[in-house]
Amino acid sequence: MSELRFDGQVIVVTGAGGGLGKAYALFFGSRGASVVVNDLGGSFKGEGNSTKAADVVVDEIKAAGGKAVANYDSVENGDRIIETAIQNYGRIDVLLNNAGILRDISFKNMKDQDWDLIINVHVKGSYKCARAAWPYFRKQKYGRVINTASAAGLFGSFGQCNYSAAKLAMVGFTETLAKEGAKYNIHANVIAPIAASRMTQTVMPPDILENLKPDWVVPLVAVLVHKDSDENGAIYEVGGGHIAKLRWERASGLLLKADDSYTPGAILKRWPEISNFRDADHPTGVADFMGLLEKSMKMGPNDK
Ligand code: NAD
Repeated sequence: MSELRFDGQVIVVTGAGGGLGKAYALFFGSRGASVVVNDLGGSFKGEGNSTKAADVVVDEIKAAGGKAVANYDSVENGDRIIETAIQNYGRIDVLLNNAGILRDISFKNMKDQDWDLIINVHVKGSYKCARAAWPYFRKQKYGRVINTASAAGLFGSFGQCNYSAAKLAMVGFTETLAKEGAKYNIHANVIAPIAASRMTQTVMPPDILENLKPDWVVPLVAVLVHKDSDENGAIYEVGGGHIAKLRWERASGLLLKADDSYTPGAILKRWPEISNFRDADHPTGVADFMGLLEKSMKMGPNDK
């Protein structure tokens, strides 16, 4: 990682008081960027707050000769976090939406409060920060955003219904930001990381955690937010030395005549075709429904 530098750039890292966020902040602080170290300083369940978490990281960056400033707001007040960047450094180039909490509980026992808190921090928090940064990005025709999803969002995870919903929301959010930002040179990508942190220390054995340093998520993020990167709207799984891109896959599917003969029985008869992935494609948009409808209209009645 000797090559990439971020001199003159201003990088906002949310939830930078510990875990992955701290690793991002220290890295970018050592590579020439001015870093806004945001952290509310609460527990991993989202209780309490303290200025210490962010202050310790700011001190560490400064002690190493870097530039950093603390912000203690919740990401739900993202406009204040971006304001810290503007007031102190006059610009913002990169936003790392990383802050997060957990409220794990089975769906049967989930309370509205567990649901709302998770959605507010992850979804609304990422929205508020990106929304506040967006006008600056557009004006300067440059911006980089990383949103943070999770395997729990992509694949589901027992006891994490609230968190899964919030984390998959990050994928849709990113894909739309990527589309809207493209012509302004604003790139948004989303990662599903895995790393040792206070979030994972209770669910993974110590010997595994030892080999999952947050530092091993940082290099991919550095590549993605660098000014030379063209990557936009991509989903990555990253951790423990592994990096892989993920994408949607769509089966070639079944096309039936859309008339009275389009019945459950007609579908059941050719059911396997719906999930035949032999000639699958990897879409970045919806199927061409108008084209398919036209084709369907020209077909003969379905054999029920
Ligand atoms: P962590 O608990 O070490 O770090 C999260 C940080 O966010 C904490 O310092 C916390 O104080 C801060 N924070 C929480 N709520 C906040 C708020 N409202 N405003 C500002 N700061 C707030 O956990 P981590 O593992 O480093 O997680 C970082 C991100 O990565 C999270 O979004 C998490 O969901 C995601 N993630 C982590 C893993 C993993 O394996 N560690 C896996 C998948 C996703």
